[in-house]
Amino acid sequence: MSARFDAIVNRERAVYAPTARRWPLALVRGLGSRVWDPDGGEYVDLTAGWGVTSIGHCHPKLVRAIADQAKTLMQTTNIVFSTPQLELAEHLDRLMPDPIHKSFFVSAGTEANEGALKLAAAATGRSQFVSTLGSFHGRTLGAIGVLGQEKHRGRWSGIIRENAFVPYGDAVAAKEALGEHVAAMIVEPVQGEGGVHPAPDGYLAELLELCHAVGALLIVDEIQTGVGRTGRWFGFEHSGIVPDIATLGKGLGGGMPIAAFLATDAVMDTMQPGDHGGTYAGNLVTCRAAKAVLDVIEEEGLVERAARLGAHVAERLEAIAARAGEGSLGVRGVGLLRGLVFASGETASRVHAAALEAGVLTSLTAGTVIRVFPALNIPEDDLDRGIDLLEGVI
Ligand code: PLP
Repeated sequence: MSARFDAIVNRERAVYAPTARRWPLALVRGLGSRVWDPDGGEYVDLTAGWGVTSIGHCHPKLVRAIADQAKTLMQTTNIVFSTPQLELAEHLDRLMPDPIHKSFFVSAGTEANEGALKLAAAATGRSQFVSTLGSFHGRTLGAIGVLGQEKHRGRWSGIIRENAFVPYGDAVAAKEALGEHVAAMIVEPVQGEGGVHPAPDGYLAELLELCHAVGALLIVDEIQTGVGRTGRWFGFEHSGIVPDIATLGKGLGGGMPIAAFLATDAVMDTMQPGDHGGTYAGNLVTCRAAKAVLDVIEEEGLVERAARLGAHVAERLEAIAARAGEGSLGVRGVGLLRGLVFASGETASRVHAAALEAGVLTSLTAGTVIRVFPALNIPEDDLDRGIDLLEGVI
């Protein structure tokens, strides 16, 4: 480690909460799909700032939109009308399939899911939720209540509410858990944090039908999968369904903190003034940024590109998995959200650490999976270089 890096670590220890087991890395600059450490060391970013920088780091159109809005008007209360909010909502209305037309903007994915849960309760007059084992929906108390991983729930069991959890992909178990007290079932189209598990064919369609049969709603958490990542605008489109409520985050803002919950008119119109809000809900700079991200994704054809490059990533990772023999259990994923699955957590974490040292950022998730989820516009040379580096350490 360099003296510059050590100085950052030592200063931070005195003043910052120890909530993250950090990588031995500090980053100071990014451009496209490359990032740099304080000593000028360069890395290929196959994590897109954790699924966020969907159009790469510091895309000039995004930077310009943020700067323009910051110079014009940064923030107002949510009690006045504003055009950046309206223009983003109109754009999402155009992208979302019927009958989802209405949005509400918040600052983080967890907050979007909180809003979605409240909305489902308001629309149904019910209070229980069903979720899936292995799921991740955020770290605030309502979201942890539907988060299906013991490592995130256990410590807070005394202060979160209990909901029902069923195995992901198992519609029979979901049917048993759904009943007349259930407001909604919440599900990801691909469990990202849970280890990159795509929904089995027909699963979301079955859940939608089962929910509606008992008067409950289906919430699809698109915080990791939405805005083009899976090669469709929204992950649920692979299933040919439209949920009652969808949540977006991460890639929507391209690096600015914005998330959203969206719903059909019938559901969203059950919210009354005062039911939900927030100081930064629909902040003008973040809304303007998200609109610029959507514009760039459309102008540069990045949804189709994610499908095409995703197939290339899958092919390359599968070749690596085949060479790793029994050390790897194969590759999972959709579009530009892929996981190379290792047989042992120890190997996966050694590969992850060595890859970082070699100059490529990947994500180690669910203990045994190296997740690759780069910017949708990652240059093909950078993508191949990143995968070459990963292959080299394996
Ligand atoms: N939902 C999903 C599917 C996620 O992947 C995440 C974050 O990883 C969240 C919700 C929480 O989002 P945030 O960290 O912005 O609160």
